[in-house]
Amino acid sequence: MTPSSEDRRIRDLRPAKSPLNAWRPIGVHLEKERNEQGELVPCQTLFLTGQECPFTCVFCDLWQYTLDEPTPPGAIPAQISQAFDEHGMPPEGAMIKLYNASNFFDDKAVPSEDWAAIAALLKPYSKVIVECHPRFVGESCGRFAQLLRGHLEVAMGLETVHPVALPRLNKKMTLETWNLAASRLRSLGVGLRSFVLVGAPYISRAETVEWAVRSVDHALQCGSTVVSLIPTRSGNGEMQRLAELGVFSPPTVRQLEEALDGALNLDQGIVLVDLWDADGMAGCPECRAARIERMTRLNLEAGTLPPISCPVCD
Ligand code: SF4
Ligand SMILES: [Zn+2]
Repeated sequence: MTPSSEDRRIRDLRPAKSPLNAWRPIGVHLEKERNEQGELVPCQTLFLTGQECPFTCVFCDLWQYTLDEPTPPGAIPAQISQAFDEHGMPPEGAMIKLYNASNFFDDKAVPSEDWAAIAALLKPYSKVIVECHPRFVGESCGRFAQLLRGHLEVAMGLETVHPVALPRLNKKMTLETWNLAASRLRSLGVGLRSFVLVGAPYISRAETVEWAVRSVDHALQCGSTVVSLIPTRSGNGEMQRLAELGVFSPPTVRQLEEALDGALNLDQGIVLVDLWDADGMAGCPECRAARIERMTRLNLEAGTLPPISCPVCD
């Protein structure tokens, strides 16, 4: 895909990329995640090194974990083997996320000649989750699913259903593109996980929570079994520019929590919130820690928890 002038403008604002080794995974993370039956299951996330995504979303912070050149054949299975050697494998029946900061079904990011070797390494897992832009979602997802012993779930960024914001994210997809990919996955018997932004640019601060919840609702109506709320992060150059223009303000801990509560009130599917950078988010000093703790518990326990009351910000 030839970069557009908008892509080049956004890429020029990025800080320098650190060189990465194509034969080493970036990291491994072990956590627990609820499955459809409400049980907590071990879930291993492998952050893999591979070629950068050809899209250039305004909010993307994943490009820094990628290579400029195509992923060499053999590198992804080698990285998975290394991760298992160094960190061990979770018990039979666990889930695994293979996150390559790009699109699993882009042959330049994950060569399809490696699929059989990858599937062989993933035999113990009950569910395999990979990430992919809707434009790379097609028949190939079904072919990879057939190689796996566990169930395949594809994670796609819906980001927002806001009609003005979505086209301005430079994601090169419309809502119809996303809906079509979701229905393709359904017809292939492949699971769908969705990412929804809290605090997407071009949505006013007052409407942040409402549009996040509406976007979660859309993802659930399209068959997502899991929806993950992602606080929009700054730091790639373009987001600072948008903040200076007054069209982006990073979400607060409280907004993130309100979006999670609103999405859980829909009472459908599994809704999670991404808290890995929550300590760096803006928020009321009096209650932020309690709100992060409450969201951590809501990720693990299905159901509701009493709200936090705060003498400062209530
Ligand atoms: S599709 Fe994902 S990886 Fe690609 S530019 Fe957008 S946010 Fe980044
Ligand atoms: Zn407070």
